[in-house]
Amino acid sequence: MSLSGNEGYKCKECGLTFPTEEQLENHAQEHIRLAGVFNCDKSKKTFSFRDELDKHLLVDHNE
Ligand SMILES: [Zn+2]
Ligand SMILES: [Zn+2]
Repeated sequence: MSLSGNEGYKCKECGLTFPTEEQLENHAQEHIRLAGVFNCDKSKKTFSFRDELDKHLLVDHNE
């Protein structure tokens, strides 16, 4: 990782910068977490996989 001056650590996903590498890693985990979340619009339940949401819609909402 190359740093120019004191710009800090830049997130490759969204371009936000953080003063420490630890904070950047915590932030990066958020991207990973959010990428794997599927929300049901009807019951506000969340699922880690698209398949689980599809199954939930079928079973709980008859879609
Ligand atoms: Zn980011
Ligand atoms: Zn639901």
